[in-house]
Amino acid sequence: MIIDLISDTVTRPTPQMLEAMMIAKVGDDVFKMDPTVNAFQEKVADLFGMEDALFFPSGTMANQAAIKLHTQPGDLLFCDKYAHVYNYESGGAAFHSGVTCKLIDGKRGMFTAEQLQEVTSSGPEIYLPFAKLVCIENTTNKGGGACWDFSELEKIQKITQEKQLSFHLDGARLFNALIEKNESPKQYGQLFDTISICFSKGLGAPIGSILLGSKMHISKALRLRKLYGGGMRQVGFLAAACDYALEHHVERLAEDHQKAKEIGAVLETLSYVTKVEPIETNILIFYVDKNIGDTNFIEKMKSENILLTPMGERKIRIVTHLDYTNEMHQKLIETLKNFKC
Ligand SMILES: *Cc1c(COP(=O)(O)O)cnc(C)c1O
Repeated sequence: MIIDLISDTVTRPTPQMLEAMMIAKVGDDVFKMDPTVNAFQEKVADLFGMEDALFFPSGTMANQAAIKLHTQPGDLLFCDKYAHVYNYESGGAAFHSGVTCKLIDGKRGMFTAEQLQEVTSSGPEIYLPFAKLVCIENTTNKGGGACWDFSELEKIQKITQEKQLSFHLDGARLFNALIEKNESPKQYGQLFDTISICFSKGLGAPIGSILLGSKMHISKALRLRKLYGGGMRQVGFLAAACDYALEHHVERLAEDHQKAKEIGAVLETLSYVTKVEPIETNILIFYVDKNIGDTNFIEKMKSENILLTPMGERKIRIVTHLDYTNEMHQKLIETLKNFKC
């Protein structure tokens, strides 16, 4: 038994999900002839109360298309210093859109409306880049699965409106936040110009993301997706997996959060753990004693068939997910308790 807690992307489709994929009706999606994709796009747009939606092969492509449709080369994008769009998308914002990122020094991947107000206060001098776009991430990835306070997001939206900035949500794990905070998709649909969502993270689909926005934004995104080589043919097989995930794997995210919190509670009691970051959803970050060291700890865990991610500086990450069973949970907790350096 391998206990893989490296990411929530390691899940395999369940037999029921595979069954849903196999019976999907498909067509050529480049000609908009795939009925499963069309229905899925419409369903997710309705769920969020947004005008339109477009299916993407990855969250990265959806985010990068969003950045491109909101900006011109030379423009300025505001995001947290931990933002996925800045750190983990291969420099795409610079490559595809030619934008500069202004990094905000937030906490756990989240900044305040006040901080945004400060960085957006300079006037339109000819030597400054045009301020165009604000990107936020919910839940935050590098921030350890933290969820934004919705009232802070409302304040941020107000600033974006006053300053005529576009507002994009990287919602790769938005459903984790919705479940944890008991919020609704429509609340988020009202706040943002565009939203990207991944079905291949905690929701357990093998592939698939969606971009939501106005009809105008999505028609631009359609062209960009083709430009990036993301026009797909009988892709309803994959949209069917995402649809299955949306129907059956959203409520259960609470189980992943519960397990992460239980692991955190155990870690708090262990002498070799120096700190556990607050745990809100399915990502857990903790620090081991310097006598142990993160790579050494990871190696020892690996010899017990437990896979974790070292993040440097004695920091370790655990991500719980659909394929992390109760049996694995018991074994992990026992192994952590019995660990000797
Ligand atoms: C995973 C992730 C993405 C997109 O990743 P892909 O692997 O390209 O689907 C975007 N933002 C965040 C916060 C993520 O965790």
